[in-house]
Amino acid sequence: MDDLIDGDTMIAELNKQVQVAARKPADGLSIVKYYDIASQLERQAKMYLADSDMERAYVMFFRFSSFFLTTIAAHKSYKDSEFTKIKTEYRQKCDESLKQCETLKKEIKDKYDGLVMAHAEKRLADLTLEPKAPAPQSDLSAAPSAPAPEPSAPPAEDVESTFVRQKSWDLLKIPEQKKADPEEKVVSASPAYPSLRAGGKDEPSAAAIRSGAALPGQKVTPAPAAAPAKASRATALFNLRPLTFNADIMNEFLRYASANTRANIETCGILCGQIKKNELLITAVVLPKQKATSDTCVTQMEEELITLQDKHNLITLGWIHTHPSQTCFLSSIDLHTHYSYQIMMPEAIAIVMAPSKVPNRGVFNISPLGLDSLKDCNRTGFHQHKNSDKLWGPVSHVNIDTSRNAPAFKFYDLR
Ligand SMILES: [Zn+2]
Ligand SMILES: [Zn+2]
Repeated sequence: MDDLIDGDTMIAELNKQVQVAARKPADGLSIVKYYDIASQLERQAKMYLADSDMERAYVMFFRFSSFFLTTIAAHKSYKDSEFTKIKTEYRQKCDESLKQCETLKKEIKDKYDGLVMAHAEKRLADLTLEPKAPAPQSDLSAAPSAPAPEPSAPPAEDVESTFVRQKSWDLLKIPEQKKADPEEKVVSASPAYPSLRAGGKDEPSAAAIRSGAALPGQKVTPAPAAAPAKASRATALFNLRPLTFNADIMNEFLRYASANTRANIETCGILCGQIKKNELLITAVVLPKQKATSDTCVTQMEEELITLQDKHNLITLGWIHTHPSQTCFLSSIDLHTHYSYQIMMPEAIAIVMAPSKVPNRGVFNISPLGLDSLKDCNRTGFHQHKNSDKLWGPVSHVNIDTSRNAPAFKFYDLR
């Protein structure tokens, strides 16, 4: 079966992924936080455009515009005179963004209609030359890969450390990832929002998430195009992209954290970077102002981070933090923190450094089951989650580069 799709179908698929649902605003959350989220969305959109990733650029510009027009416009401070300047600025950005969407929409339609046309012409030519030959199979009709093995369970969440961050990004939901195993399907029988990875039943990236992290230096490639034959091309477009970082980032972070670690105080940093040729690259670590204890860490003055990211054209790709005296795992609070990152950027990672334990480091993200559980959890502080050992695990889309040519990085210590 031919699974090429035309322009209109692709646009419809992409529109499904724009879905920005505003959760009931958290109590007292400032409109400034909303604008911070908007700025992240817009910066991502522009980076996709610069990287000629028209499909993601379209989705992200559209998401940015929707977020401004629905969520921000509904904020109680939206019309306050003290926010007139930023409102005017973002209204203009929104207009530009919508224009960009129109342009991209046309380009995407032309691209996919062109592909369908070229394919049809080729088939016609083949049939004319060899009338008795069977119709050629599409490249995308590859058989699905075998399901990933069950992961070993991460450590139980018995002793927890605290890492408290504001949950402003919870305001923005992104569509869920498809579940790959039957057990998870039961849990997520009625998804609250449409799928980002719509279409595939055995979503490769969902399986990949749970299949274990690459060893340092081990090269990973983009999630294989192993979607079932009937999956649309839109599905393959939104597989997790590879994320690369220099292995030295982890030790360098420990050096920045060392004074805190000696005093049994947590430290956190934001992993920032860029997108080039559909690959994510961590090029900077920002240590924002923060207030921490042995088991808590709260970032402060986040507007400084946004300003720095604007200045250096960086987007957020995850975060790194220490467990000075705890083992290496994601606590319930860490999970909620990481949820905020992962809904903004599906490839976002959480690096945990536990210098006093073995293993002393880990690179994690939230499983599809975890995303599903966390989106409805409004609890704060330490709490138990059902199936807590299945909500997160080591990542598999990450290259930890130990070579001499590993990408350069900078640290910005704003503390
Ligand atoms: Zn932690
Ligand atoms: Zn929770």
